[in-house]
Amino acid sequence: MAEPVRVRFAPSPTGHLHVGGARTALFNWLFARRHRGVFILRVEDTDRSRSTEEFIASIVEALRWLGLDWDEGPPAAGYRQTERLEIYRAHAERLLAEGRAYRCVCPPEELEAQRKAAQARGETFRYSGKCREAHVPADVPHALRLKLPLSGQTVVQDLIHGTVVFEHGQLDDWIIVRTDGSPTYNFCVVVDDVTMKITHVIRGNDHLSNTPKQILCYQALGYPVPAFAHIPMILGADRSRLSKRHGATSVLAFKEEGFLPEAMVNYLARLGWSHGDQEIFSREELVQHFDLAHIGSAGAVFDRVKLEWLGNHWMKQMPAERLANDLVPFLQRAGLAVPADRQWLGRVTETLKERARTFVEMVELGAFYFADPAGYDREAGVKFFTPEAVPRLALLLKRLAAHEPFEPEALETLYRGLAAELGVKLVDLAQLTRIALTGRDASPPIFQVAALLGREKTLARLRKCLAVLEGKA
Ligand code: GLU
Repeated sequence: MAEPVRVRFAPSPTGHLHVGGARTALFNWLFARRHRGVFILRVEDTDRSRSTEEFIASIVEALRWLGLDWDEGPPAAGYRQTERLEIYRAHAERLLAEGRAYRCVCPPEELEAQRKAAQARGETFRYSGKCREAHVPADVPHALRLKLPLSGQTVVQDLIHGTVVFEHGQLDDWIIVRTDGSPTYNFCVVVDDVTMKITHVIRGNDHLSNTPKQILCYQALGYPVPAFAHIPMILGADRSRLSKRHGATSVLAFKEEGFLPEAMVNYLARLGWSHGDQEIFSREELVQHFDLAHIGSAGAVFDRVKLEWLGNHWMKQMPAERLANDLVPFLQRAGLAVPADRQWLGRVTETLKERARTFVEMVELGAFYFADPAGYDREAGVKFFTPEAVPRLALLLKRLAAHEPFEPEALETLYRGLAAELGVKLVDLAQLTRIALTGRDASPPIFQVAALLGREKTLARLRKCLAVLEGKA
């Protein structure tokens, strides 16, 4: 590519970052990193009634969590549309001076009536062009409209959809500046993309219909038109556009659930983009392989099961230190005491990561490491709390009290010996211990659990279980 790649992610801060927006941001980021270009964050906050500081902060938090760092953008000044009004004004004035835009004084009520009439006829409303040649003087309150060609076509060479043709007869002279002086959305986008020297506009399919209007505006301004790539929408399982009806869609909701950002990035990248049949991608691999050519032109279905599978995959890849660190806020949220010994916590996560897809699941699966079980699973109790359980627990208590070292292998040897001595299966003793230590009949390998809990806690929990069985607690 001759010129350096410059792309942007341009969210409107009227809501939290959802998976569709996050994927758009990711594709832009990957494209920039792949081509050693520049990734820009631009906040499209001209709709002041719906844009909030909270949503800007929330979008920034979500992008940071995903690791999508921008080279230009907030907090630097000039990347929020509300800070750029002077730039839009100057461009509008130039278009007016060059006769490419004109003043319009058609009353809103009149336009509204025409719109309704068109609707009633089943047609889309198009401005009549009444003020096109009216030469409205500057001192009358007016809007500014872009003067479009009356015939011909605009052809979009979309990098994903190929050639898309729009007839000019279907477009109208759209408003670039309203009567109150505020610039309109499509105009701001074009002026921003021009002045930020954007080379590739990579955005959602829902903006494809804006593209011919925007291209005509580039041409009116006399600027080269960037390349366009419109990414197909994300769909729910019913193949309708993904929305809240389909469950969580906000990126931060997945963060709250405790997905690793590595899993989310991997998942989002594969949502509509492919590289052979490879499913697992590290960030580096994505940067190495990402291209626009392999984005599919059909909508991609959001598949939570696959996200969860990747969640588990990436848990298993993570070093204990990182898992221990990331688990802490989830322990706090669950009201569990955070152990001071991070190394111990790391070993705990090692025993849980095989089954956990998220940190919330990890906390659920391993709560017994941090607090005594509140009770015993009923079904497990019925099955394993037999009359023989009492003498077996008593014997276990006795032997474990003296056994050295209190480590998984040595404990297993002890249990095997004891099972042989009693003429029972190892699993009977192991399950009894498991229920006593964890409250449940499923857990990480029980000798590891016992070793991590340590002798004191293990004995205390076995003692407690014995007391319960003897009806003393
Ligand atoms: N602000 C628009 C949105 O949030 C994006 C516009 C664009 O990418 O051109 O959907």
